[in-house]
Amino acid sequence: MTVSTLRVAKTMSRHIFVLTGAGVSAESGLGTFRDKAGEGIWSRFDPMTLATPQAFARDPETVLAFYDARRRNCLAAAPNPAHVALARLGRALAEKGGRLTLVTQNIDDLHERAGSTEVLHMHGELLRARCGHCEATPAWTRDLTAGDACPECARVGGLRPDVVWFGEFPYHRDEIGRALASADLFVAIGTSGAVYPAAALVAEARAFGASTCEINLEAADNASLFDEARYGLASKIVPAWVDAMLGTGPKG
Ligand code: NAD
Repeated sequence: MTVSTLRVAKTMSRHIFVLTGAGVSAESGLGTFRDKAGEGIWSRFDPMTLATPQAFARDPETVLAFYDARRRNCLAAAPNPAHVALARLGRALAEKGGRLTLVTQNIDDLHERAGSTEVLHMHGELLRARCGHCEATPAWTRDLTAGDACPECARVGGLRPDVVWFGEFPYHRDEIGRALASADLFVAIGTSGAVYPAAALVAEARAFGASTCEINLEAADNASLFDEARYGLASKIVPAWVDAMLGTGPKG
């Protein structure tokens, strides 16, 4: 076995933990939170007045209209090569006895549409509603109105987008903690390291002994916590990184 095949074999038995953020979906046309170009949906609206439980209580119609627009954008978007490469990584690791834990802060479904399975959406899913009466989270692809009935309990007036707003607890915390404890590589992709607790996961991974890598357009706020950084467009950098992990890159 050569040194390079040995390295690839070691990679295959690895548990890689990937955390993605808005940057992985930017090239699919979904605006990021901190969009320097000023074109993203978030740059035209103040999330603190739209993505909080208080905002929803005060003005549900405006909040629902905001998420209706985002849902339509999501449905019109398609996965890009970064999503596709991560799905490929998950399949290849599983085939070789390794494991990929894919955690996303994104509320879009582009990882799933690219073929990733078991995606942990820590901030919820735009294509689901949540019923305040029965806690059901039905799939939801059309506009959501205050007059809609829950498909589970049939009660009207309890539905909201199944997204985690500022001031609410992210989902899957226990599962994420368990995965961090056994991961030997933590990779953050397209996330600014500014939204907590997601931004703190890299420190947790380090404390458990994982090595860490940042893939981003520019250095994240928590860049000093990463052992390695690869900067550039996710659609280019992520497939190249996956090739390097799997030993499937160009030879030479
Ligand atoms: P963020 O907007 O704060 O940061 C985006 C990061 O991606 C930045 O570091 C930026 O440099 C990088 N980036 C931008 N374009 C890129 C590209 N083409 N390739 C690689 N990197 C690129 O996003 P965040 O850290 O995920 O936090 C924002 C919050 O807003 C999260 O809670 C997230 O749920 C939410 N959000 C979600 C979506 C979505 O679901 N698609 C979109 C916007 C915001």
